[in-house]
Order: sequence, then C-alpha cells, then structure tokens
Amino acid sequence: MTTSPSPLSSTPSLYVVATPLGNLQDIGIRAQAVLAGVDAIAAEDTRHSQRLLDALGIRTKLFALHEHNEQAAVGQVIRMLEAGQQVALISDAGTPAISDPGARAVARVREAGFPVVPVPGPCAAVAALSASGFVDDGFRFVGFLPAKQAARRAAIEDLRAQTVPLVFYESPHRIVECVADLAAVLEPSRDIVIAREITKIYEQIARMPLGEASAWLAADPNRCRGEFVLIVAGAPAAEGLGAEAERVLALLLAELPVKSAARLAAEITGAARNTLYARALELKGS
Ligand code: SAM
Repeated sequence: MTTSPSPLSSTPSLYVVATPLGNLQDIGIRAQAVLAGVDAIAAEDTRHSQRLLDALGIRTKLFALHEHNEQAAVGQVIRMLEAGQQVALISDAGTPAISDPGARAVARVREAGFPVVPVPGPCAAVAALSASGFVDDGFRFVGFLPAKQAARRAAIEDLRAQTVPLVFYESPHRIVECVADLAAVLEPSRDIVIAREITKIYEQIARMPLGEASAWLAADPNRCRGEFVLIVAGAPAAEGLGAEAERVLALLLAELPVKSAARLAAEITGAARNTLYARALELKGS
C-alpha cells in the first residue's frame, strides 16, 4: 500500500473519480483529496454532485459533462489541461464511464496527450458480484439491456451461450419485464442474484433459480423499488463436457456455424465431437 503527500500528479491530468452508490462513507480518502485539490470537477449532474461536495465540505467548482454535451465539455476539459489545470471527472454514482458518461471524454483526453488517472472506488456491478456467491473465474458485464422487448429478448438470446455469469444493470421501471424476459429466454434452472439498493438502507441481495424470480418480485412491491444489479449464471455445463470445453465451444460458436465450432472445439480440447455438436445445437437452439 502506498500513500503520497500530494494526491495530484505534477502533470496536469484528468482524474476519473468513483463516488458512493448511496452510502457517503464509501467515498475514498484519495477520492476526497483529489476532489478537493483539483481546479474543477466535470460532473454528470452538477446539482446532484453539489450535494455530495457539500456533505464532504469540498468547495471545488463543478461544470456539466453529460451524454448530451460530452463533446463540447471535453473541449473545455482539454483547454483547462492545456492551461496547466487539474480536472476531475465524476458521475452521479459509482465509477464514471461504466454505463455512465465519461468514456468518450477519457478517450479524447488521452488522444490529446494528457494523463488520465483512475481513482477507483464503488461500482455497482463489482459490489454485486462480490456478494453474489458466484465462484466462476470470470463474468460478462452487459450493463443495460435494450428498452424494447423484442430487442431485449434478442440481446439475451445472443448471450445464451456465455458460460460465465452475466451482469446487468436495471432500473425500477423495467425490472419486472427484464426478469420475465431473462426467464423466458434462458434456462429457468439457472440461478439469478437480484441485488438492489446496494449500500443503501433497503439493501437486499437475494439468490434464487431464474424460474422463481418473477414470483419473488411479485410477492412484495418493495422488491421492485430502487436500483438493481442482476447477475445470471452462465450456460449450464452439458453432462460430460468440462468447463474448458464449454468455454472454447462458446467462443467458437460466437463466430462460426455449429458444425465448424464443434469440430474445432473437439480438436482444441480433446472432448468428443458428437457431444460438442449436441451441446452446440442446444446453445444455438431455442
Ligand atoms: N457507473 C455506475 C457504476 O459504477 O456502477 C453505474 C451507473 S448506471 C447509469 C446506474 C445503474 O447502476 C442503475 O440503474 C443500477 O442498475 C446500477 N446501480 C447504481 N447504484 C446501485 C445501487 N446502489 N444498487 C444496485 N444497483 C445500482
């Protein structure tokens, strides 16, 4: 662990600062020092972030950088950096650029040749994963699914063959429809973790088979309130196929027809071609 006397670099930089998801105590010591030390903070919603700064006793000035003005606002960020100033970037909650504005700003600042310094901290997806009990080696972060049902179901279908847990963000407006579509498209025996209001008063993290999730939500109207992370188990392993064969097959299936994917997966992993072919059909099918 290292600490430095100054939280800021000697070179003008953009600091990408994670902020609390709900519990103010989750603000990092370094995050506070950076927010207090920079010349200005680009924020997704200045009114929302002003309340955070007030609570922390930080007086740095804020300006808006959101999805509708990102290109123009990043011009301002670059001009400030050129003038030797230090700038921080924050979003409403969690880590900027993760299903939040900021990614394009970061790309342009990097292109302009200035350092971009992450100041890590809360992220809803990582917080939910850490308490989910899934033991897989990886995960697939999806973020928000499409708002319209046909596109949402198609997107879920495209994820069907993934063998690692799938991580989604969802709002209270669409949680019921989203969970219903996940259960309709994926195997109902897969587990789902519904993590809502993480770090807030009504935090709830429940795990159940996907086929039971709609009934669980319907059982108590409070369960549909707040912000959600959903984590759905990856495609169930077929009998006789190991995790590595499943992983290789899923990767190949994303690019190739069933027959070629099964043949190549058999060559790479040594698993039986017939079993792989049957599994590939299952993953591509229904
Ligand atoms: N950049 C943020 C992060 O690092 O997690 C995510 C921003 S995204 C616009 C907002 C979504 O994150 C919400 O709709 C919800 O899916 C998820 N989220 C944010 N705060 C949450 C919380 N306290 N509990 C559960 N999910 C949360």
